[in-house]
Amino acid sequence: MYTDSIEMVEVSPRDGLQNEKALIPTADKIALIERAIEAGSRRIEVTSFVNPRAVPQMADAEDVCASLPVRDDVTYIGLVMNQRGADRAIATGRIDELGTVTVATDRFAMANQGQTSDESVEIAKSIIESARQSRVSAQVTIAASFGCPFEGEVPEERVVAMALALAEASPREIGLADTIGVGNPAHVERLVTKVREAVGAIPVRVHFHNTRGTGLANVWAAIGAGATVIDSSIGGLGGCPFAPGAAGNIATEDVVYMLERAGISTGLELDSLIATNGWLSKIMAKPLPAMVGKSGGFPATREMEGN
Ligand code: ZN
Repeated sequence: MYTDSIEMVEVSPRDGLQNEKALIPTADKIALIERAIEAGSRRIEVTSFVNPRAVPQMADAEDVCASLPVRDDVTYIGLVMNQRGADRAIATGRIDELGTVTVATDRFAMANQGQTSDESVEIAKSIIESARQSRVSAQVTIAASFGCPFEGEVPEERVVAMALALAEASPREIGLADTIGVGNPAHVERLVTKVREAVGAIPVRVHFHNTRGTGLANVWAAIGAGATVIDSSIGGLGGCPFAPGAAGNIATEDVVYMLERAGISTGLELDSLIATNGWLSKIMAKPLPAMVGKSGGFPATREMEGN
């Protein structure tokens, strides 16, 4: 049942930083991306093309793209929520893949992107089609797949129906996001299984936040149910706007430690990630939520630097 390798998508430059109040200089974002590549990342969510007044941290999207390392072997993902964002991303000439966003509930969809849930599906499908004409890859995420901050429980049938509708546009993959970090492994196993059955050959990616400590258990359940791509953020950066002070995205180094020790290769180097955790916590001027970033791996392969 368990695979021997998994693909990881590094989301720290976008989801990790998006809710941080202190504006991070573009040069530091580029340094983070370079460090992720150095650690082995080959798919990186580098920025989002959204209204800079709504998300000031992402106001430098075009500048980030202009400074991205030129690498044929790295896929740079730009997050977009409407055609205008997609047009901006494609116009940079540096974005390899659009990450489109749908939301499982109407109230969250309206709050997040001014669309109903159904509209978010139609808009994502249309962006995926237009990206194809521009020879840019596109995938889609279903946000709030496991619970909504406004509407509470999200019916699994709703998420499956959305995945089925989105599959018509043939996205590169379909992502299930636990945007507010309320998922549990049994729910994850059920939903990943149902969505995979619905979408056939389209790979399923999962996106977890560790808001309530269930992130790693959810990763394990998702892989067991056949998810093949995992989003994560170095340092576990990426707190939830609906839960102030909460832990962030699942931490890349924690996921890599767990999976590599379990015999599932990730393509990432743990020591390099841990070193980047130390660097990033200085940039952010605070300790980061990641566990393995603090403890180091096992067995020890390098001397721990105090931080
Ligand atoms: Zn997220």
